[in-house]
Amino acid sequence: MSNLALTGTLFIVSAPSGTGKTSLVNALVRDTNHLKLSISHTTRPPRDKEIDGYNYHFIDTDKFKQMQLAGVFMESAEVFGNLYGTSQDAVQKMLDEGHDVVLEIDWQGAEQIKARFPEAISIFILPPSIEALKQRLTNRGQDSDEVISHRMDKAISELKHHDKADYLVVNDDFEEALKSLKAIVKANRMKTANQKIIIDRLIRQLLK
Ligand code: 5GP
Repeated sequence: MSNLALTGTLFIVSAPSGTGKTSLVNALVRDTNHLKLSISHTTRPPRDKEIDGYNYHFIDTDKFKQMQLAGVFMESAEVFGNLYGTSQDAVQKMLDEGHDVVLEIDWQGAEQIKARFPEAISIFILPPSIEALKQRLTNRGQDSDEVISHRMDKAISELKHHDKADYLVVNDDFEEALKSLKAIVKANRMKTANQKIIIDRLIRQLLK
């Protein structure tokens, strides 16, 4: 795998399922210019209403392993028995087009990305309470009790990794949590090193 040319920022958003992460990330990307969401590859079968190429690239295990061997993925992990990976070329393309990129990935992937790209910004989303988490996992109505209880266990073990993230956002009120995510993106864009790229012309003009 060749190295990624980081011309923008990689934002990593991790959270256990049931924290409202996907809705938050979708709203963040919808409302923010030059911010794109990376679409992962997975061997998990599509859920109701999920669209191939939009929610995920759904592929079988053989294909995933082939791609993994070919070095296609900049990170990959097994989560709940399914394989997930982020295509480096797809991320590079979005960066080349002048976007920052959001990776909505689990803590294992977050650690791999942070190890390779320490300048990536990691955000962990927490549920407001254990009851709310259980409620949200139950509300999905798509999984059996056994799967829900398995997911609760997994969610709690995933929560243990929150302290490695650069930012923690509690999703109690959706709009507030969204504002917090937007503030993180905006503050990063205001950093001098990033502003120099964004407003290079202005600075050259001011200092002429
Ligand atoms: P779900 O199958 O419920 O959509 O996602 C299960 C978990 O896999 C979530 O924590 C999600 O963030 C994570 N995930 C999704 N795509 C990727 C990926 O490309 N890499 C990694 N490491 N995790 C992913």
